[in-house]
Amino acid sequence: MNSLSVTNEQFSDILNLYYGSYFPLKHFNDEKNFKNILLKKKVNNKFFPLPIFFGINKKKYFKIKNKKIIKLFFENKYIAAIKIKNFFNIKKKFFGRKLFGLNYKKHPYYLKFSKENYIFLDFEYIKINKKNLRHKYFVPPSIFKKKLKKVSTLAGFHTRNVPHTAHQWVHKFMIKKYSKILIQPLIGQYKKGEYLDSTIIKANLLAIQMYDKKALYVPYFSYPRYGGPLESALHALVRKNYGCTHFWVGRDHAGYKKYFSKYSSQSFCFKNQNKLGIKIIVQKEPYYCHGCKKIVNKKCLKNLCKRSLKIVISGTKVRNYLRKNKDIPEIIMNKKISKILNKNSIINSLKK
Ligand SMILES: [Zn+2]
Repeated sequence: MNSLSVTNEQFSDILNLYYGSYFPLKHFNDEKNFKNILLKKKVNNKFFPLPIFFGINKKKYFKIKNKKIIKLFFENKYIAAIKIKNFFNIKKKFFGRKLFGLNYKKHPYYLKFSKENYIFLDFEYIKINKKNLRHKYFVPPSIFKKKLKKVSTLAGFHTRNVPHTAHQWVHKFMIKKYSKILIQPLIGQYKKGEYLDSTIIKANLLAIQMYDKKALYVPYFSYPRYGGPLESALHALVRKNYGCTHFWVGRDHAGYKKYFSKYSSQSFCFKNQNKLGIKIIVQKEPYYCHGCKKIVNKKCLKNLCKRSLKIVISGTKVRNYLRKNKDIPEIIMNKKISKILNKNSIINSLKK
């Protein structure tokens, strides 16, 4: 029988679809669903923001184009046998414009998409090898929810970062308002300059220890698409499927450099929160005020503090300290967390 090896990213999509993290989507998009999502953000009449597709490059296509039944492998382990229903194309320009607007050619995920996808597969599983349908960074939503027991409100926090003081301000803000919080970092980074997965996990677990059992942890095994508002909406759906009742959508959530405006993700998710079935927490970004000597996210008391006293805290800033081998100030990051970081905590070369 013919075989096809799947990438790390495809494997994460297989797991998330099969185990319900992407519900109401249960399987990779066929041509009709792919187009419906791009045009109407809908799948079977339900809101769904981003296409989840199974694409292959030219080399793989020529290997399997005349085959009907194929075995899928991930890291040399047999995961499933599939029956190919058909191959189809989606115009790259159409994909790019619908997801990323007029400047799509400058978007990093568009470039990745164009490079990796020669053609798309519509298939069905004939056999699934459940034994190998697992990953150290993946916990099925149903397994996680069993541990939840009686938590009346659970507020989700997405991150692809090492928590800095502004993140921790958000954690504490949510702990005050909701029964528990779920810190769920996105694991599956591939871009140069991002943190290593292992660093993200270690640092977030350290933060969780500071919250007196009020914070839960589960990884979100996927990969960033830098898709701004649409990807933020997918993040919200995933959190709903993991049992969250509320979800924090922050400044430039799932963004890329200055591609999207600061609060476009937040307002898009808030506008669609009924369709998503999860409440979106809408707050301004927290920053450090030298006048008040603390982190705030509203105007300082009586507006006595000057604008110049305001310090923006961002992951980019932290990574710049690391690259230069400089100590990270405590107003930017808790010492216990910054202690575990150095310039090797960042992806220095492009992962294959
Ligand atoms: Zn102030």
